[in-house]
Amino acid sequence: MGEDPASKVYVANKKKACEYIGINSFEYKLPEETTEEEVIELINKLNNDNTVSGILCQLPVPKHINEEAIINAIDPKKDVDAFHPINVGKIMTGNYDFVPCTPAGVMELIKESGIDVTGKECVVVGRSNIVGKPMSMLLLHQNGTVTVCHSKTKDLKAKTKSADILVAAVGIPNFITGDMIKEGAVVIDVGINRIAPKTLVGDVEFDTAKEVAGAITPVPGGVGPMTIAMLMKNTLKAAEVNKTV
Ligand code: NDP
Repeated sequence: MGEDPASKVYVANKKKACEYIGINSFEYKLPEETTEEEVIELINKLNNDNTVSGILCQLPVPKHINEEAIINAIDPKKDVDAFHPINVGKIMTGNYDFVPCTPAGVMELIKESGIDVTGKECVVVGRSNIVGKPMSMLLLHQNGTVTVCHSKTKDLKAKTKSADILVAAVGIPNFITGDMIKEGAVVIDVGINRIAPKTLVGDVEFDTAKEVAGAITPVPGGVGPMTIAMLMKNTLKAAEVNKTV
């Protein structure tokens, strides 16, 4: 919905990934002035279309639309972003079909790198519903000892410096600097910040952080592509759950 430039890039990348792995994708580009009722009507149509396995609404939505109402309208069994309250609740209990794509991508990176989370001090900077909160739950399910930091956290540096696994999801360019990182820590940078028309940087200052970290993800090229891969995984799962293929 609307004209958000970053959304256009994300949607194009998601479509490309679908094409690459053989999932049919259908894009509904809605003009800025579309009403909430019209969006919900479209979602209902897709909910009831059994050739459709998964539905996602690219956020953010225009200001006159209630984001929560849109998320709640998506059938939880087709909710490949895992933002619906039913799927959010399932993440709390650990009995889930879908995991939000970005935290799922982070967990996959950790697993594929042979890093055992059990007993590790895990610090997540950021507590958004789409990244920070589910991220902390997934690390907890893997037996990490998790601290979640946010804009009101006191002495952030002391917290980040205690982390064996540090996840930055703040949305401030180069916010976490090398001196905030423990020697040898695993540093995962979720941030995507456009600081110039063709320059993306993360929430971690890569050059100073890489001198201290034991492992670190780059931006671009780290968590971003994993997010899309996990969206594909959720969509395949949705096809299985809904038996649409
Ligand atoms: P939000 O803006 O929703 O949340 C940012 C979080 O950072 C908030 O919890 C906020 O705290 C916290 N924060 C802000 N300032 C500070 C500070 N000075 N000290 C400590 N914490 C602070 O962002 P998102 O979670 O949606 O996204 C975070 C980043 O990840 C962005 O750069 C975004 O572009 C990127 N992103 C990347 C994705 C990917 O695919 N790689 C997917 C989604 C997001 P408070 O709650 O107190 O306000």
